[in-house]
Amino acid sequence: MVLIYSRVGAEIRNGYENRINESREVLGILNQRINYEKNRDSKHTDKLTSFQKQKMILRIDSLTQYILLYERTEKLLHQFHTIAPDLFQEIDTIKNAYNEKTDVYVKFLPDEKMIESQLGRTIMGQCFEDENICFSEYGVRSVLIIIYSEINPLLVLAHELGHVRYQVPHLATYFDYFKETYYGRSYEPYFIGHYPTDLSGITAQEYERRFAQYFNIYTKKLKHTTRELTKGSNRS
Ligand SMILES: [Zn+2]
Repeated sequence: MVLIYSRVGAEIRNGYENRINESREVLGILNQRINYEKNRDSKHTDKLTSFQKQKMILRIDSLTQYILLYERTEKLLHQFHTIAPDLFQEIDTIKNAYNEKTDVYVKFLPDEKMIESQLGRTIMGQCFEDENICFSEYGVRSVLIIIYSEINPLLVLAHELGHVRYQVPHLATYFDYFKETYYGRSYEPYFIGHYPTDLSGITAQEYERRFAQYFNIYTKKLKHTTRELTKGSNRS
């Protein structure tokens, strides 16, 4: 899949990008080996055992799945960028309290067993040395967003980006607020991050609203272009 979408120097990144080249390369080698095996004379003595073949097939499945998730995430980011470029840009250039850039990794991970309260998640921790600097599994000054929902994932992404928009520049104060508001209380999972005074939750809802507006403008433009194209083709 080729997308006309430059990620060079971007801060919103595909969460699967780290292992994509290696995965494609290994998949190519394994497929070649399996095909070679299929086309060989069955009397060959150095054939793979059925256990080795089974292992190889499982590896091929897992690499194919990884590449598919990478491509679906890439498509999601591309669509978001096309529909709401300003919103995308705000997070693409997000900085922490010290005006330092922060990478936002996004993983699309559709989950059939998803419970309604887990449409998406924003994951970040505070650095031990400095409570204003965040980290995730991608390193210092990075955040991870996981989108589980296959239903309207763009809107879920907008929501999670809203959380990031508020939390990254206000990390220390927000974590204090978070501990005070939610720790030791038995709130429903969907309510955590959305107490009425929670500015991260308020920003997430604002981002959803703004994305919905951009989406309306985009679909209107699309309809208009389709109408114009149909008129043009009718004339010819
Ligand atoms: Zn939320």
